[in-house]
Amino acid sequence: MNLVLLGAPGAGKGTQAKLLCERLGLSHLSTGDMLRAARESGTAVGREVAAIMDAGQLVSDDVVMALLQNGLRDATKGAILDGFPRNLQQANRLEQLPTFHLDHVVSIDVPVEALVERLSGRRSCLACGAAFHVAFSPPEREGICDSCGAALVQRADDREEAIRKRLEVYEQSTRPLVDHYSKKGLLRAVHGTGEVGEVTQRIVKSIGVER
Ligand code: AMP
Repeated sequence: MNLVLLGAPGAGKGTQAKLLCERLGLSHLSTGDMLRAARESGTAVGREVAAIMDAGQLVSDDVVMALLQNGLRDATKGAILDGFPRNLQQANRLEQLPTFHLDHVVSIDVPVEALVERLSGRRSCLACGAAFHVAFSPPEREGICDSCGAALVQRADDREEAIRKRLEVYEQSTRPLVDHYSKKGLLRAVHGTGEVGEVTQRIVKSIGVER
């Protein structure tokens, strides 16, 4: 089974994708995580995309497509795509991949005020990808990742100016995908507010795999 998680930055796509992958035995393919890993390891791609990401803009379709295809090669039991596609061109390119069949697109809907609150308080572990929140889910030791012990940072794109840009980019480029997938009969919309586990339950129910 292959799923796409759609939602604005801060909607909880990464958190839900991790939980759902554990539960359903799928691979988690986050293009944002792949790009951050490329930056961390200082590859040519990483250097090329750094400034674009920090400004909250989208990197080129060719770059993310190459990363995604690479990830899909190992996802033999199916995957949850988190942060991809981000625009109609990417959605069309995904549809053209001969071996990929998309089963469901889950749209996680969260009001804009809650998105800003979540993103501005988010602290991330660049080593293992875990995410915390200064008020809602603080780590046990301030500034230290509970999962792997590395230092937590505020992502450059979680600063106010970049958050505004990312929400604007989402409205312009990504939101049209809701309509696109709705017309194809693939869209399942869920409310993304409330407890993390409740949102997971809504998602599994929406895709008919509740156990
Ligand atoms: P995310 O972790 O999904 O919020 O992504 C962080 C940043 O990575 C985005 O703001 C973009 O700069 C870039 N990015 C991630 N996925 C994509 C994508 N599918 N297309 C273009 N840029 C992306």
